[in-house]
Amino acid sequence: MYDPLVNAHPGVGAPHSPSYWVDTAGTAPEDDGPVNGAMDVEVAIIGAGYTGLSCALHLAREHGIRAVVLEANQVAWGCSGRNGSFARISGGRVPLAELIKRYGPSTAKAYFDEMTAGLNTVRGLIADGQIDCDAQPDGVFKVASHATHVEGLKREVGLYNDVLKYGAKFVEADNVKAVHNGAEAFGALYMPDGFSMHPLKLAWGIHRQARAAGAKVHTRSPVTEWHSGNGSHRLVTPGGVVTARRVVVATNGYTSPALNKATAGRVLPVHSQIIVTRPLTAEEKRQSLVGSECMFDTRNLLSYYRRLPDDRIMFGGRSAITGRDAENPQHRQNLHDAMCRKFPALAGIEVDYNWGGWVAVSENSLPFICKVPGLDNVFSAGGYAGSGVSFSVQAGKRLAQMAAGEAQPTAIDFLHQVPKRFPFQPFLRIGQRLAYAWYRFKDAQ
Ligand SMILES: Cc1cc2nc3c(=O)[nH]c(=O)nc-3n(C[C@H](O)[C@H](O)[C@H](O)COP(=O)(O)OP(=O)(O)OC[C@H]3O[C@@H](n4cnc5c(N)ncnc54)[C@H](O)[C@@H]3O)c2cc1C
Repeated sequence: MYDPLVNAHPGVGAPHSPSYWVDTAGTAPEDDGPVNGAMDVEVAIIGAGYTGLSCALHLAREHGIRAVVLEANQVAWGCSGRNGSFARISGGRVPLAELIKRYGPSTAKAYFDEMTAGLNTVRGLIADGQIDCDAQPDGVFKVASHATHVEGLKREVGLYNDVLKYGAKFVEADNVKAVHNGAEAFGALYMPDGFSMHPLKLAWGIHRQARAAGAKVHTRSPVTEWHSGNGSHRLVTPGGVVTARRVVVATNGYTSPALNKATAGRVLPVHSQIIVTRPLTAEEKRQSLVGSECMFDTRNLLSYYRRLPDDRIMFGGRSAITGRDAENPQHRQNLHDAMCRKFPALAGIEVDYNWGGWVAVSENSLPFICKVPGLDNVFSAGGYAGSGVSFSVQAGKRLAQMAAGEAQPTAIDFLHQVPKRFPFQPFLRIGQRLAYAWYRFKDAQ
């Protein structure tokens, strides 16, 4: 599997990783094929995931700029075509109490409002583009997987209510059973906003809208070299060189340090993996995920799960550290074990699909939407830490504002700061192994 810390770029036209989403998405929409010869453009966007596609769409629609998107493989080949499908009020992985402590209540509220705006941007694109992406009814449960987590969840509900003025509520364990009928559910924090859908269909829908608005999306076009000077950037792809005045880097967890020294080491690619079971029988459904809402638990190495429209269970969580180890069957078994601990009625159930991808974690565990230092007119967003479906779409919209000339499109300063580079880069993965061991120990308490 492509490993951003090992390989120079993600490939040239590699097919989508086999997944439930690929098998159920239908036919891929047209794109503009590989770059063919020299091109001179105002804005080039590297990466055709939600960030890049949303940026291209908003540049065309709201700023009259017809950008060119360069994608190594296929539209939404990265996280955007293979994620866990939850569009929530989320972005990054900083607990709410910590966010309030770090930045104060009013900045935390402004950030919450921006995340909410992200969810509404996704809803708006689905409605405007009539994207048929199997969107499910709203509702998100954060389930206490241990009795000792209940008090913390109740305090979190209090912060949502009092500081953010948001109507989250605590659901007692007996009532959680109505949607989550199994073990490891000692109560839950419920958020009324947030829904699941078909992530690849969503990406293709945004792609269609971006092209209809005038953007070009060139697949099979990895940027293999980048030369800057005289107010422009020369992006070398196998099919030709693209010269651009402004560049948007939307490669997120799939960013190789070889792309450009200025963007290297700003995110840590962390592997997340998903299994999908065969469809449940009516009795298995009654004994497991009765509801179809988005669910995740309170562990440090958390699991996320939902029942799909055809009654399969999708269950995901952290897995391998390196690309070389990603195919190790032990990771799939670990997810199966974790699912069956929650839902003993599913013991031994067959798994029909299994895949993974690279989420991007920044040094402060929060997203960034910034100007890249040391390069003229280069902008980047990422670091959503596995919670980026709606926030990447919003970040793409904000990046479009920046590429169109706006210095800082929100009042949330931390969002626009350049992410620090991870220290001791050669040892990153050793640190990650130690952190995982510590989290596993804590999660077992
Ligand atoms: C298994 C998994 C489950 C997840 N579940 C959820 C979830 O339920 N909810 C949620 O909110 N978030 C989830 N996420 C995270 C979410 O999917 C991402 O935050 C979001 O899709 C990021 O979009 P993006 O456009 O920034 O990056 P990506 O979609 O990863 O796109 C980056 C693109 O850049 C391209 N690229 C890289 N280098 C080059 C180059 N040199 N030249 C050209 N192209 C290049 C790649 O090929 C790739 O297509 C999950 C992620 C994974 C992997």
